[in-house]
Amino acid sequence: MSAPGNSVSGNGKVAVVTGASSGIGAATARSLARDGYSVVLGARRVDRIEELAQEIGGRAMYLDVTDAASVERFVATLDRVHVLVNNAGGAKGLAPISEANLEDWRWMWETNVVGTLRVTKALLPHLEASGDGLIVTITSTAALEAYDNGAGYTSAKHAQGVLHRTLRLELIGKPIRLTEICPGMVETEFSLVRFDGDAAKADAVYEGLTPMVADDIAELVSFAASRPSHVNLDQIVVRPRDQATSRRNIKTG
Ligand code: NAP
Repeated sequence: MSAPGNSVSGNGKVAVVTGASSGIGAATARSLARDGYSVVLGARRVDRIEELAQEIGGRAMYLDVTDAASVERFVATLDRVHVLVNNAGGAKGLAPISEANLEDWRWMWETNVVGTLRVTKALLPHLEASGDGLIVTITSTAALEAYDNGAGYTSAKHAQGVLHRTLRLELIGKPIRLTEICPGMVETEFSLVRFDGDAAKADAVYEGLTPMVADDIAELVSFAASRPSHVNLDQIVVRPRDQATSRRNIKTG
């Protein structure tokens, strides 16, 4: 049996998806597997990624992007990587700065920003060695706009976006493409996590409008990955028709 991530199937390329246990990450793992990638799924809820890996013929491995040792162990099992999807992340809380919960802010910065840095830094040698690497980072429209009560998340997503865009500059001349995807509202477990498991609060976010679904974003990852290697899709901003900005949607008028 080959080591995780080393199996060759379909197009012979390996794609790593962080946060593949739900939402956009799970949909992306499915989509890339359909495209022929051998997908390595990382997340903390191993039962979920093991089930998905079985379904798509990929490999599941425990990954906590906030834990350096976990990232090291994850990366040590890989010897080839062509595509990295930095998807692990999310929001905690929705509070004005005057009432900011510092633990929530730390969680958001550790997961979205430092987590992306850890995984990306560790996989850069493999991505370069592949001769045709791609890094997709799922930031958010929160990486482009501020909104009331959202500063913990918007500041983390802005930082994650700048990390990604700086890498685009620093890697010029190397065989690695970089695509940032900035989605607006997508109905996933995102709001459930943000509101600490309060399903009524989470559901209310999507009531009265038609949000995007995880597959809408996964299709964009597959599209970016399927461009010829001289074409770099730098940034994709995508929202539901019912949402014009983070602050203005069909409900706010
Ligand atoms: P989700 O359903 O809550 O998925 C989040 C994923 O991140 C889960 O698989 C979770 O897995 C993983 N994750 C969280 N902390 C992690 C950690 N420390 N280590 C490894 N994995 C971790 O939400 P989603 O909407 O699909 O979110 C995916 C990405 O899209 C996030 O970066 C989010 O900020 C971004 N985004 C979402 C929206 C939206 O409206 N939904 C809009 C724009 C951008 P485990 O808990 O199993 O570890």
